[in-house]
Amino acid sequence: MTDQSPQAQVESITKAFEQDFGRFASFSDDPSALSSLGLDAALAEQRAVTELRTRYLGKKSDLAAAKKLIGRVAPEERAGFGQLVQATQDKLETMLDQVELSLRNYIEAERTARESIDVTMPGRRPRTGHRHPITLLRERLEDVFVALGYAIEDDREIETDFYNFDALNIPENHPARAWQDTFYTVDGFALRSQTSTVQIHAMQRRGVPVRMIAPGRVFRRDTPDPTHNPMFFQVEGLCVDRGITMAHLKGTVAEFLRRMFGPDTVTRFRPSYFPFTEPSAEFDFSCFKCKGSGCRICKNSGWIELGGSGMVHPNVLRAVGVDPQEYSGFAFGLGIDRMCALMYELDDIRLLFENDVRFLEKFE
Ligand SMILES: [Zn+2]
Repeated sequence: MTDQSPQAQVESITKAFEQDFGRFASFSDDPSALSSLGLDAALAEQRAVTELRTRYLGKKSDLAAAKKLIGRVAPEERAGFGQLVQATQDKLETMLDQVELSLRNYIEAERTARESIDVTMPGRRPRTGHRHPITLLRERLEDVFVALGYAIEDDREIETDFYNFDALNIPENHPARAWQDTFYTVDGFALRSQTSTVQIHAMQRRGVPVRMIAPGRVFRRDTPDPTHNPMFFQVEGLCVDRGITMAHLKGTVAEFLRRMFGPDTVTRFRPSYFPFTEPSAEFDFSCFKCKGSGCRICKNSGWIELGGSGMVHPNVLRAVGVDPQEYSGFAFGLGIDRMCALMYELDDIRLLFENDVRFLEKFE
């Protein structure tokens, strides 16, 4: 460029600009060129025009450099060259201004159109969620026991050996530790394998007499299959007072099952063994589906096995400083997931934890 005359330099600036400006020219001449553009493309073109203005009219542009030559051209050419530079600048500015104005008007109109609301269009209804079937069942259980005068207790899911085993009369090397095998941390903590741990915390905190249920998560080292999951929900009940007998236990469990499954529900107890109760019993109830005549749910027995129970072992009372000569109590526990699977006739308990929305939606 330096070997050109100043006039020729300005002319080649104009030429280069006209070439670069070409694709924008139609925006100010022809309104339909804009209408086919769309908002996003128009915004991009607006930025491109701003860049073009900087490139041709900015402080570092060739035209700005040409302006500095005005003082150096021969005095007789100076006025003519000055006018040429000014006229070129005016021309470029006018062309850019026009195209910018067209783009700005178009963008504004497009935005207004986009933001206007058509009140006749059907709305998009937000999908409301609902509680998980386990939560719904847990709340029903809680309602029954609150009505019977029980407090709801909640406690930690990670425990020391004392709360998970020792205080529940399961000393080290006791075989019950094997079927309650759970997950351990490297520093000796265990994920609780039963909600019975809450009994111990509650008696330590509240003292006796106490009436409480503890619904919550428990953990076992089980391989998931249709009836097992390494994490599941239990509810534990405890009643300790002076003069509590097995009759109170049977009456409470029977009343609970009547309130859950209807007034005709029959309960039966079978002798069993648990380390933390003595005597111990498992309890079954008459099948809510076939009323005892036999069906798929009760495996044709007419009875559904639900949970374990018993009189609190004196060692458990001693572990929390309660005198078993003065106080006695009963405890019971059952699996909420298992109960949920029974009530909704689920073939696979894992459905409750896979969080498939198509399944969960059925419990609305
Ligand atoms: Zn049945």
